[in-house]
Amino acid sequence: MAASSLSGDRSETIFSDYKGEYTREQALVEANRCLFCTDAPCVKACPTHIEIPQFIRKIATGNLRGSAKTIFDANILGMSCARVCPVEVLCVGDCVYNEMGVPPIQIGKLQRFSTDTAFKNEWRFFEAGPDTGKTVGLIGGGPASLACAHELRRFGHRATIYEKRARLGGLNTTGVAPYKMKADRSLEETQWILGIGGIEVKTGVSVGDDVTLEDLEKKHDAVFFGAGLGIDTAMKVPGEDLQNVFGAVDWIEKMKTGRVSVEGMKSCVVVGGGNTALDCVREARGLGIERVTMVYRGTEAKMSGYAHEWKAAEMHGARAEWQVLPVAFEGHGKVERVRCVRLDASKKPIAGTELVLEADLVLVAIGQSKLGEMLSKLEGIKVEKGHVVTDDDGKTGRAKWSAGGDCRNGGKEVVNAAAEGKAAARAIHQFLGGTK
Ligand SMILES: Cc1cc2nc3c(=O)[nH]c(=O)nc-3n(C[C@H](O)[C@H](O)[C@H](O)COP(=O)(O)OP(=O)(O)OC[C@H]3O[C@@H](n4cnc5c(N)ncnc54)[C@H](O)[C@@H]3O)c2cc1C
Ligand code: SF4
Repeated sequence: MAASSLSGDRSETIFSDYKGEYTREQALVEANRCLFCTDAPCVKACPTHIEIPQFIRKIATGNLRGSAKTIFDANILGMSCARVCPVEVLCVGDCVYNEMGVPPIQIGKLQRFSTDTAFKNEWRFFEAGPDTGKTVGLIGGGPASLACAHELRRFGHRATIYEKRARLGGLNTTGVAPYKMKADRSLEETQWILGIGGIEVKTGVSVGDDVTLEDLEKKHDAVFFGAGLGIDTAMKVPGEDLQNVFGAVDWIEKMKTGRVSVEGMKSCVVVGGGNTALDCVREARGLGIERVTMVYRGTEAKMSGYAHEWKAAEMHGARAEWQVLPVAFEGHGKVERVRCVRLDASKKPIAGTELVLEADLVLVAIGQSKLGEMLSKLEGIKVEKGHVVTDDDGKTGRAKWSAGGDCRNGGKEVVNAAAEGKAAARAIHQFLGGTK
């Protein structure tokens, strides 16, 4: 599926790129600030363990091709990760400069400079290994499966991705905030990854509906489950079926791959306190909605969303109501207001503390369903709280089956999915008789 399959007038296109790209001169200056630590803490903090000092040194010495190869060798999704990784809590957060009171090295921006240069020049680094005659089926076409399929090809195994949507990339295409990365960039990345050859893609195929798990098990020598998370969790309060009340991830997908209407909307309520809620708040503000309020049942200190993302949302004009719970969405056909109660420290409603917020748009960001359950009917596979249980290499208790990404870790970051997909490929390779 080509990047051009997305319409040019989709809503996400009005967002500009919030971090911006380095010029060659800026990249050189930043690269030359690096202390090139041995045993660098940033490498440990990156789930894919990119040799960060090495790729930065290669930028500093003008070896851009070598720099990009170092990144992609560890993480084939290095281009999107450079844009979407929460570097503040990963590599950049662990840069030794933080302890010296000196601004940390902007690893994400340097990685972006290097990987963008590779994409612009259409550099390719990896070839498929000699054909082993083995085939692996991968359920889902998100970062976990893409990383797994690419690594499997390097070992010479054939891979078939079964993706229920029309496009690959998973939440990289449909979920991440457009000021970090737009959908067309994610599709460009998937094409680049598929460029290794020998990865068959079957889009529009929902495993469990169009093809059974047992079919895949029979057809392939091994199966990787990388289906991510499912649909938005509902509030289950009156009025949730009113027009303009949406599950957050569903609305974000519509905004990124098509158009959402915010015409005439003056106020938006976002329910939740995680990173998806924080993205929604900034997205609603960015689309031009004047009053955007995040309603969260806990305190600011206890929210699961990153503090730096909330600070950024505040700077973009968002406000929050802490320790508040919506009890009904009200309106005539369309939502007009959200009725809430205040909560005490133990999250119990405080009598007589009703709060009514105007809302032309409500986005419910309180979590997503878990898809691991669909594997629980296969003997030997353990599923806990909806997550597939595996060993460190992604192997389940059933011989042919591995899993990785959000369906295994409960919902982390793209870089975790990339790391788990790659680790699973290496374990699958051993299972198929490989020794490397
Ligand atoms: C709103 C939002 C914003 C995010 N922002 C960031 C961010 O800024 N930075 C970051 O690092 N991470 C972010 N994340 C998290 C990140 O996107 C995920 O951790 C990552 O995409 C997980 O990859 P995955 O391959 O496991 O799953 P997914 O990306 O969810 O991909 C799974 C794929 O499987 C497909 N699928 C599901 N069921 C089936 C089936 N039965 N048959 C066939 N196909 C199926 C789905 O359609 C999907 O394409 C965000 C998540 C959300 C929800
Ligand atoms: S992949 Fe992400 S965490 Fe790892 S070095 Fe790159 S930006 Fe940092």
